Amino acid sequence: MPSNKKRVAIIGGGVAGLIVARHVSARTEDYSLMLFEQTDQVGGTWVYTDKTEVDKNGLPVHSSMYKNLRTNLPKEIMQIPDFPFKDEDGPSFVHHSVIRQYLQDYAQHFNLFPHIKLNTLVKYVEPVTLSDQTTWLVTYKNMATLEETTARFDAVVLCNGHYTVGNIPNIKGRSTFKGTCIHSHQYRLPENYKGRNVCILGASWSGIDIAIEMSKYAEKIYLSHNLPEGLKANIANNVEQRAGIEFIDGKTFHFRDGTSAEVDDFIYCTGYKFTYPFMSDKVKIKTDDNHVEPIYKHLVHADTKNLFFMGLPGIVIPFPMFHIQSQFILRILDGHIKLPSSEKMKSDYEKEKNMLLQQGIPIRHIIKMKERQWAYYDEIATAANVASFPPVIRKIYDHSSAMRELDFMTYKNYQYRIIDKENFTVCYGKQE
Ligand SMILES: Cc1cc2nc3c(=O)[nH]c(=O)nc-3n(C[C@H](O)[C@H](O)[C@H](O)COP(=O)(O)OP(=O)(O)OC[C@H]3O[C@@H](n4cnc5c(N)ncnc54)[C@H](O)[C@@H]3O)c2cc1C
Repeated sequence: MPSNKKRVAIIGGGVAGLIVARHVSARTEDYSLMLFEQTDQVGGTWVYTDKTEVDKNGLPVHSSMYKNLRTNLPKEIMQIPDFPFKDEDGPSFVHHSVIRQYLQDYAQHFNLFPHIKLNTLVKYVEPVTLSDQTTWLVTYKNMATLEETTARFDAVVLCNGHYTVGNIPNIKGRSTFKGTCIHSHQYRLPENYKGRNVCILGASWSGIDIAIEMSKYAEKIYLSHNLPEGLKANIANNVEQRAGIEFIDGKTFHFRDGTSAEVDDFIYCTGYKFTYPFMSDKVKIKTDDNHVEPIYKHLVHADTKNLFFMGLPGIVIPFPMFHIQSQFILRILDGHIKLPSSEKMKSDYEKEKNMLLQQGIPIRHIIKMKERQWAYYDEIATAANVASFPPVIRKIYDHSSAMRELDFMTYKNYQYRIIDKENFTVCYGKQE
């Protein structure tokens, strides 16, 4: 007898995929699921590797973690609401290995492994529409046997991450530079830059973080960026801010403020691209300029209603956001949330986009939620009829952001403890 269960395909076994799987698998009476993960482990970008080019399956290395990375958010607010960190007493800004272990424990705790196909690359996702009903053919490849299989699903959730394919801007004269040149995706160790003059292009999270850890080894770091105000927070003495790069002439980097510097090594910290290489051309997705469209509520493809995109918003608290988003998706699949027509979803998307553009936000930055994140969590949590973030999360987030704005070098030394839904304590304790 064919089953009446809805079949859900989840592509990617990082935190987003695991959280979706946790919620779908709690409903085995209504749903069956398969989670496809191309590597041999769950955890996604938190699975650190020394490798920078290809993994043991011959696929491009997925993780962008560097060896000493500690989180840029306190673990007290990163944690998934139904799975608190075991070690409540340790530091708040933890090493990446702690997060990797946490995600493996999460998968174990919620018994997700029976639903996960490791070493399985999704190669092709194609919609098939019959009398207004779209199902999805997913073709996947077992990387050990190289066998390819196609299976049909009622819904597909894309959780393939977007911190792997680096965005590399064109810079005049770049080919004349003969020193080492990498994207932050390939950066691993600061020791490699001992005594060197390094130019880091881009002063977002990775650019600043890498500049700081490298400052203990490098002779000089030129942190080149286009932020009009410049960075105000305290940073290491040998990190010099420069304007964006005008052109490169051999070892000499010319900056837009008219200054120049001699550079040995160059690192692009210029962000990443959204890519869905497995998606059929029948699905219209725009991924240029660092955003994806047309996606309703940062989750649902406006044309299809059973194709979901996880992980799109930036400057958010991803893990607990995924927890709410997953339940929002389930409510849609259950039929409890009625989606508007495709036209209405598209026009809602355009309205939000145009409002942000009119505020002067460049298109490549519209995915950054910042202050908008709180209303977004509340909106989708209310629609899904689940709890949104308790006020204490925002309070800790605001405190830690303010400390970062003051001093990039020390904000990770604060330790936070949640007391209740409203209150927290914080103390300053230097980490080794
Ligand atoms: C350097 C760095 C530091 C960060 N620091 C923090 C932090 O401190 N706190 C925080 O909350 N967030 C941080 N983030 C953001 C982080 O990316 C998110 O927290 C979160 O890990 C994203 O999870 P994800 O599941 O969306 O993607 P990923 O973790 O990237 O997982 C995607 C998974 O999909 C798999 N996959 C991709 N394509 C296919 C395919 N075709 N077939 C099968 N499998 C596929 C990949 O192998 C991978 O396992 C950081 C990100 C980076 C890059």
